[in-house]
Amino acid sequence: MDITITRNPSPAEKPDPSTLGFGKIFTDHMFVMNYTAGQGWHDARIVPFGTISLHPASTVLHYGSEIFEGLKAYRRADGKVQLFRPIENIRRMNRSAERMCLPQIPESDAMEILTAFIRLEQDWVPSAPGTSLYIRPFMFGNDETLGVHSVKNAVFMIITSPVGSYYKEGINPVKIMIESTDVRAVRGGTGEAKCGGNYAASNRAGEKAEEKGYSQVLWLDGVERRYIEEVGAMNVMFKISGEIVTPRLSGSILPGITRKSCIELLRSEGYTVSERLISVDELEQAMETGTLEEAWGCGTAAVVSPIGELCYNDRKFTVNGGRIGKVTQHLYDTLTGIQWGTLADSFGWTQEI
Ligand SMILES: *Cc1c(COP(=O)(O)O)cnc(C)c1O
Repeated sequence: MDITITRNPSPAEKPDPSTLGFGKIFTDHMFVMNYTAGQGWHDARIVPFGTISLHPASTVLHYGSEIFEGLKAYRRADGKVQLFRPIENIRRMNRSAERMCLPQIPESDAMEILTAFIRLEQDWVPSAPGTSLYIRPFMFGNDETLGVHSVKNAVFMIITSPVGSYYKEGINPVKIMIESTDVRAVRGGTGEAKCGGNYAASNRAGEKAEEKGYSQVLWLDGVERRYIEEVGAMNVMFKISGEIVTPRLSGSILPGITRKSCIELLRSEGYTVSERLISVDELEQAMETGTLEEAWGCGTAAVVSPIGELCYNDRKFTVNGGRIGKVTQHLYDTLTGIQWGTLADSFGWTQEI
């Protein structure tokens, strides 16, 4: 691949790691590449980070043709930088693109772009405990017409942001509200694509939950509003009477890479993990009878996020006394150990830059 590089003439000072939040500070450069039907991808370039201009009729502004990914670069103790299962993000992005009629990027090209870009920005990967460089690849339709059709012009970009430790004061279990009015996705819709529109449609329920003191919502299926799907931007797992269960990928759930890693790790250690339908009635009963032993969300940002309280139709249930459970803690320690290189990576999940 031919990637032209225009260096930022005035690179920024690296921020104090204690001031890093999530996605507020951006690095010196960004990657941009254009797609034109008939010509394919062209003009791959790394340029100084900055605003972009769009035609007011650009497809993305009207019809929401947009997909994104999220992964992190981690600074190891030996100073080297590594990625966690980046090929999984590339494959998922191409599946999202297929669903949204956006152009795909050949896997090897996408990997080359990603590694070239992170190599250039590697000084931005922070080294304080728990910090990382969040990588946000995204793609949008950019036809300059209001006609509704699959796009003939698209833009692919990567921006990166140094992010702070998700857990500054230790791992605090979160309070989650089960949403019974709004739904996030239906089978056949866009729930399994990582697209911006899914988020726009989920904000209302999220706000309602926040007003009541909950940090995120747990979605139920869009047809019967009966089966557990996932939490905000995380997949969800439970330990019920010793069995580890997670909703199966039904077509409306985002296939998380952290979810996949939790399952593979637990199975390799001899745990049984069931991917199956879990009804809210089953969950409610497990909470009433005390057989719900642990509950946690899993996603790139938090890795693993213990759930300490669940609320369903104004009934509140405490999970594991509001404390992090053993399996949850084990998953957190093992996955973060592999990601930051303090534990051996026997799965071959990490890739040095
Ligand atoms: C990105 C995302 C996840 C988590 O996926 P990871 O690959 O583990 O980060 C879960 N649910 C939704 C809706 C998401 O957008």
